[in-house]
Amino acid sequence: MDNRYDVCVIGGGPAGSTAALVLARTGASVCLVEKRRFPRETLCGEFLSHEVAAALEELGLEADFQQLDPNPIARFTFLPGRGHVFSLPLDFPAYGMPRGKFDHMLLRAAARAGVTVLQPAEVLKITRHGELFNLDCRTEEGGRSLSGSWVIGAYGKGAAPDQEESRHVAGRRTGFNGVKFHIPERLLGTILPDEILIAPGRGMYCGINVVGGGTATLCFLERRSAHDASPRLRIQDLVRQNPDAGSRIAPAALEFLREAPVYGTANITFGPRETVRNGVFMVGDAAGVIAPLAGDGIGIAVQQARLFCSLFARMRSRNLTREFLELEYQRASLRLLAGRMRIALLCQRVMLSRALCPLIPGMLTIAPGLLPLLLRATRGATASHSRLKPSPSAGRGLDSSSWI
Ligand SMILES: Cc1cc2nc3c(=O)[nH]c(=O)nc-3n(C[C@H](O)[C@H](O)[C@H](O)COP(=O)(O)OP(=O)(O)OC[C@H]3O[C@@H](n4cnc5c(N)ncnc54)[C@H](O)[C@@H]3O)c2cc1C
Repeated sequence: MDNRYDVCVIGGGPAGSTAALVLARTGASVCLVEKRRFPRETLCGEFLSHEVAAALEELGLEADFQQLDPNPIARFTFLPGRGHVFSLPLDFPAYGMPRGKFDHMLLRAAARAGVTVLQPAEVLKITRHGELFNLDCRTEEGGRSLSGSWVIGAYGKGAAPDQEESRHVAGRRTGFNGVKFHIPERLLGTILPDEILIAPGRGMYCGINVVGGGTATLCFLERRSAHDASPRLRIQDLVRQNPDAGSRIAPAALEFLREAPVYGTANITFGPRETVRNGVFMVGDAAGVIAPLAGDGIGIAVQQARLFCSLFARMRSRNLTREFLELEYQRASLRLLAGRMRIALLCQRVMLSRALCPLIPGMLTIAPGLLPLLLRATRGATASHSRLKPSPSAGRGLDSSSWI
């Protein structure tokens, strides 16, 4: 295996795999480093919004995706409790699918496009020498060093590989914890296969949707205090506090959760982060974390990866500078992310607030247009905008530029 690449990508989640795939198709030599062995499960509500469907179509991966039997989701239902149910059809295509399957499909597509995948391997340190970057990696065989002219940081919401750089987020005790369970669909109560449910409890909210293969995902975000119950008991609390959620999470499901594997992440920091740090271009959660209430983190990850790739192609084809790319990418990322992140965070604050959450049913009764408005405002262009007409370069995604 060679050690020198045009681009090194850190992380094989949706952001990293999409960026690596598109860059490789334009002729770049790309190495993607992923620390875990795939397929792997990861914390996520596993709701794929329309931006994901649109991107897969444009990348020519729709058939691969459909082969994995995604579960179409057509309805959003909000269960604030006390007999109030607010339900509306989604005006965009959406799916449920386990992240283990989805991420593996994208990474395999990247490998097919010519990306060298180093896995399992963890990037421990990034060193910059002028225009060249050196990556120190830990592999099963020991150490490995890679170099590249460009580095994409797609390592998710955790600490940056470089300890120097990770001070921004590492070690912050935010108290925001995310937890996911996979549960057999038949054990749940009344849940329609094509709906996504959101139900708030005290200091938490929970999402449930079917993800295909007879499985449903139950995922919640909590603001944890020292007195709170363990993740498994937290769902029991939810069922007690919110009887409408109780009608969807049957006792058999609660019983199942006692032993089910827990996928979780503690102390999540939400909001935008630096998009370019010391010459490394951040994509996806590494560039900012949207509140999961929006169900759009994966959509943002693939959109931002493609945004980077199109600016990169423009820079190469017009012989522009690295500074141009840094500036344009920062600006365009801000436009793509900032509004959605702010609104999603505001909605999350209301959901987690003991004082404000009980007011939601009243607000939605007075202003029924609020829910569809918020759904639209927390994601990218509407379905009709995002479904671009296939162009002759569809399946390539970008105009190719020459690589020297
Ligand atoms: C509770 C919760 C629920 C959510 N639900 C949804 C939802 O329903 N729908 C939705 O669209 N979004 C959801 N999200 C957000 C979504 O999960 C993320 O936005 C998305 O995973 C971001 O993709 P990514 O590629 O940027 O990062 P990730 O998916 O986190 O991928 C990063 C990858 O980098 C690897 N990595 C990390 N460090 C290194 C290193 N040093 N070296 C090598 N590899 C490394 C990791 O192993 C990982 O595979 C949710 C988030 C939370 C917290």
